[in-house]
Amino acid sequence: MAEAGLTERLIADNFTATGDDLLIGGIPARTLSQRFGTPLFAYDAALIRRAYWSLAAALEGFAGIHYSIKANPNPAVVKVLHEAGAGIEIASLGEFRAAISAGVPPAEMLFAGPGKRRSELEAVIAAGIGEIHLESVEEAAHVEAIGLGLGRRVPVAIRVNPVAEAQGGAMRMGGKAAPFGFDEEELDAIVDRLKALPHLDLAGVHLFAGTQILDAAVLLGQWRHALSVASRVAARLGRPLRTIDLGGGLGIPYFTGDATLDLAAVRAGVPDLVALKAADPLIRDAHILVEPGRYLVGEAGLYLTAVLAAKISRGQRFLVVDGGMHHHLAASGNLGQVIKRDYPIVPASRMAQAAEGPASVVGPLCTPLDTLARKVAMPALVEGDLVAVLQSGAYGPTASPAGFLSHPAAIEVLIDGGEARRIGGPAEAAA
Ligand SMILES: *Cc1c(COP(=O)(O)O)cnc(C)c1O
Repeated sequence: MAEAGLTERLIADNFTATGDDLLIGGIPARTLSQRFGTPLFAYDAALIRRAYWSLAAALEGFAGIHYSIKANPNPAVVKVLHEAGAGIEIASLGEFRAAISAGVPPAEMLFAGPGKRRSELEAVIAAGIGEIHLESVEEAAHVEAIGLGLGRRVPVAIRVNPVAEAQGGAMRMGGKAAPFGFDEEELDAIVDRLKALPHLDLAGVHLFAGTQILDAAVLLGQWRHALSVASRVAARLGRPLRTIDLGGGLGIPYFTGDATLDLAAVRAGVPDLVALKAADPLIRDAHILVEPGRYLVGEAGLYLTAVLAAKISRGQRFLVVDGGMHHHLAASGNLGQVIKRDYPIVPASRMAQAAEGPASVVGPLCTPLDTLARKVAMPALVEGDLVAVLQSGAYGPTASPAGFLSHPAAIEVLIDGGEARRIGGPAEAAA
């Protein structure tokens, strides 16, 4: 499903345009900028719920959903997903606190991440975290000691770095040398070693093969492989597993030509996986979960920034805006991308105007890296006009170098039921 008019499709499906105004959650971008200032991230709670429910429907009868809050740890966003029914995946004590402030009970959280400190482990275990995903023998020893001290067994899962054949996806995180989890090739020895630690309650396995996967067949292949690894771990352990975490990595389209993940194809692949699971008594009763980040929040957000200057340099048009890579590193193409391509970007206060030829949209930082779009079609814009970067609900403010050039933090706004509410931004301006 290659898409030519990605921007048009996103406007039609996720937002709307009335006259010159781009609307998010029914509210004009201009109203948001007048009320809250710019630059701002706006998230539409209805779109977050829609992503959750459509994925939950595709996985019905097979897997539940944990939200990986690294993608957007704003407690108001976490709360929307938790209230919709999602569990939570955290990767630091800070994320644990964000989830707590969103009202998530520790038992509904699991903790992954290649470098967990002893102090972090102590805090989350004392609070009763649902599961720790072990990624090193050092970590296992700490959890064992903490469990001993508390006089109870700590529920843990083994994170597995899968072999190469199970791969696919834009940013691969397994199948090669990686700091995440234990190599699949070493699994038997690791299971034996962890089994010997009496305060570990070895409950599950966790595989996460790659991020930004747009091909349902790749995803289903990884999940199938994960089930076989789970069977192997359970057999070595000699008892049933309670949890199997298939990881995140479900992608959203960013660039013209990107496919859209076909949930109907995912749904169609589920019965096979259900049968595979049912065939092994040691994993038959395990609770399966996926832990997407980007997929649940990415489409629901946009980054709204105001034009400071419209200028021509040696025949080329530049729109200098008040937002940039310090809030939205991914849109600038500097968050690990090999090829810099433009996120969908629209003139949020001049939607009805015809394009006037290509313009580059650049941020206020004193570096050519601070470019949000390169020679994109834009109408004539003047100081005060608004530009919106779409697909910006995931890996925005907290994945960006906020301190670089000492500009204010991004304002964050959540729109729900026609109401907009400030949920983040510079402390001195807090409402
Ligand atoms: C980052 C991460 C995720 C989420 O990845 P997405 O590509 O945003 O779905 C899930 N699980 C773990 C362990 C992660 O580190």
